[in-house]
Amino acid sequence: MGKNKPTYEVMVKIGDEENMDEFMQAAVQEAKLGFEENGLPIGSVLVLDGKIVGRGRNQRNQKGSVILHAEMDAIENAGILLPEEYKRSVLYTTLSPCQMCSGTIVYLQISKVVIADNTTILGAENFLKSHGVILEYQENEECTELLRKFPLS
Ligand SMILES: [Zn+2]
Repeated sequence: MGKNKPTYEVMVKIGDEENMDEFMQAAVQEAKLGFEENGLPIGSVLVLDGKIVGRGRNQRNQKGSVILHAEMDAIENAGILLPEEYKRSVLYTTLSPCQMCSGTIVYLQISKVVIADNTTILGAENFLKSHGVILEYQENEECTELLRKFPLS
């Protein structure tokens, strides 16, 4: 261990998949799958005790659904968890959660949300914060580029 060995923080580069949190990487994979299906390129995963329990992507074009946003799809695909399990869960999403998804996050008392992009669209982050939800950001160039290819509405 040399003195000049860079710290982890120094080594991590934005958009560097190798060093990206594996859970955000999974959410980005979902966004890419959505893009390949001609859907909105937004992905999400729900993580409980260090394991992915639900994966999802925006289903507007695929299922003709206006409510199955990536976050809702991931939560839906996780099935029914215990109230304590929701509280221990972390939701990863490639785009800042909208009012509906934020409402669901608060309703289920999910304690933490990790967001890749909030510049394309800023969701209801103040609402989440005001309800004590911890927000963390993991910027990801690839996912922001995917988002810019689609006019989101
Ligand atoms: Zn949403």
